[in-house]
Amino acid sequence: LAQLYGPLNMLGFIYRSVNQSLVDTEKLLKLLNEPTDVNDKPDASDLIVEDGSIEFENVTFSYDGRTTALNGVSFKVPKRSSVALVGESGSGKSTILRLLYRFYDLKGGEGRILIDGKDIRDVTQASLRKAIGVVPQDPVLFNASIGYNIAYGKFDATTEEIEAAAKAAQMHERIVTFPDGYETKVGERGIRLSGGEKQRVAIARTLLKNPPILLLDEATSALDTSTEKDIQNALQHLVEGRSSLSIAHRLSTIKSADLILVLKDGQIVEQGNHTELLAMGGHFASMWADQVSANEDTSPTDKKS
Ligand code: ATP
Repeated sequence: LAQLYGPLNMLGFIYRSVNQSLVDTEKLLKLLNEPTDVNDKPDASDLIVEDGSIEFENVTFSYDGRTTALNGVSFKVPKRSSVALVGESGSGKSTILRLLYRFYDLKGGEGRILIDGKDIRDVTQASLRKAIGVVPQDPVLFNASIGYNIAYGKFDATTEEIEAAAKAAQMHERIVTFPDGYETKVGERGIRLSGGEKQRVAIARTLLKNPPILLLDEATSALDTSTEKDIQNALQHLVEGRSSLSIAHRLSTIKSADLILVLKDGQIVEQGNHTELLAMGGHFASMWADQVSANEDTSPTDKKS
């Protein structure tokens, strides 16, 4: 366990329970024990987000100094727009989210990442992460009440706020069927929630946190149609009015994204909206055709063949 304290300190979260935030953030972006040398500069200022626009400017990044994870990646997420990342496994999708969350800092010559025009290396990590909400693939629930698990996004939330978030996340109706409602214990020692329910708890948490920027990692596991629908509804509430970057495994879920970036070997090889990308008849179109021919919108398309 001692090994895990490094990443926690690095994250700088001010959460109630050290262990809990550790487990959560560790799972967030599959970062277990990755070394980091991210430090606040002595003159770092707090990030003040006005629009929440994001820009990657010619970003090149390698984890090990030998293989390139991202190679000259440039794109913009205009304020309050939704940008989706697609591409086969290992193409660099998670790396983009990790860099924006500043689990790694870009070095000189590796490009820049800007939020509202401000280089994220020049701001405090705490203020950066406060501005960003993350909905991971497989959210961690604590052995505590479902209400506590939702309030984890904002510990001073009122009961009304917690319920409103659960409603918007399509989770309230399920919670009221639990023996003690919002006081019911969940997690390993309580009621076990399904993957789809856990994601909705994470969505409710993030709604409460109310960040201007969102990072979403869609679950790869197939969900049944009604769960999928609930999650899509919940996400719609969450994404509205915020800038979002999502990793999508099912192309059907990002039909309405403002921009889709298709990654291959660390580079953006195509970009456009769903219709434009289909018309191009390239990588995206063939991923789409594969999915349609599998006659199964729920099958992930990012497996390496
Ligand atoms: P997936 O869909 O499987 O999650 P991805 O598109 O998110 O894949 P990344 O995780 O961003 O891909 O990986 C991009 C490249 O960086 C891959 O070649 C991967 O092997 C490499 N990589 C990822 N994490 C590390 C790490 N911690 N150390 C070294 N190389 C890594």
